[in-house]
Amino acid sequence: MRDLAKLPKAHLHLHFTGSLRLSSLREMSVEHGMGLPSALTDGVALRVPADERGWFRFQRLYDAARHCVRSEADMRRLVDEAAADDAAEGSGRLEIQVDPTSYAPFVGGITPAVEIVLDEARAASARHGVEVAVVVAASRMRHPLDARTLARLAARYAGDGPGEVVGFGLSNDERRGDTEQFAHAFRIARRAGLASVPHGGELLGPAHVQEVLGALAPDRLGHGVRSVEDPALLGSLVESGVALEVCPASNVSLGVYEREHDVPLRALVDAGATVALGADDPLLFGSRLVEQYETARTVHGFSDAELADLARASVRASRASQGTQRRLQAGIDSWLAGPDDDDGDLGAATSLSSASHRTTG
Ligand SMILES: [Zn+2]
Repeated sequence: MRDLAKLPKAHLHLHFTGSLRLSSLREMSVEHGMGLPSALTDGVALRVPADERGWFRFQRLYDAARHCVRSEADMRRLVDEAAADDAAEGSGRLEIQVDPTSYAPFVGGITPAVEIVLDEARAASARHGVEVAVVVAASRMRHPLDARTLARLAARYAGDGPGEVVGFGLSNDERRGDTEQFAHAFRIARRAGLASVPHGGELLGPAHVQEVLGALAPDRLGHGVRSVEDPALLGSLVESGVALEVCPASNVSLGVYEREHDVPLRALVDAGATVALGADDPLLFGSRLVEQYETARTVHGFSDAELADLARASVRASRASQGTQRRLQAGIDSWLAGPDDDDGDLGAATSLSSASHRTTG
């Protein structure tokens, strides 16, 4: 059993406030005199039913956390810690997702909000040895014209390196908003060379995935796990190379699957899908990136060779430069070629417990 924290990988599904360490959130809440609901601070992973009430509960907690991020210093701290935590978990490439709208009032608008995130992403990349690139995400809860504004803004910072915008996303409750109405924003983003990375196929099934494919031409789907319910659809995703950002802990927390075992990770991989594991919102779901790989190993029976393949897929699905991809792929080869009891069980257990300590604070 090789140490999964040493397996080089790319992390393609992590939300801005959702990445916060609980200890940092607590400090920010004290500093700003904001109360926090106990469900956020109890260190227990969220569990809600996969209905609108469940989503509402999730969103209310997320908003409570987001309201504590209310200065440039908070935003910079968040990016720095997300980079540090990712680097400690073997991530060589983080593509962090942010909707700047929520932070804009505290820093003078959406443009400064994006620029702060990008500037800190560049600095944190150098500090921690992980490339941090940014996905700008619009929200289904807001007007599609807002999404176009964000897409135009994102396009100005397009690139593939640290501190650049690599993709354009669409987040929040999949059941809300008309997907087709966001098509224009995604066209703006694609024209600028940004990856199309909307959420889809988690709360809703194959019919909605079809809709997202038609309207938004995704390069990657946030989640997409429920594509498994329609083999022909899954086949077409495999055929067209649309990668799936699969977040096992998130699926269970949001009630999409009852148990970890029910997440169709094995079925997706067996069908040939490009799967990149992600943590989504560690603050709420109680586990970070390495624990998703740990779940693949312990719950889904992935061997070290298969875990290395997952890591390779995450790197391929990233927007990292060819050079970075080659470096990470070489690191994955070395990890697999190395001894399989490198640190032994103790090493793996230690890195895991320190990861969960960070999360539960
Ligand atoms: Zn997400």
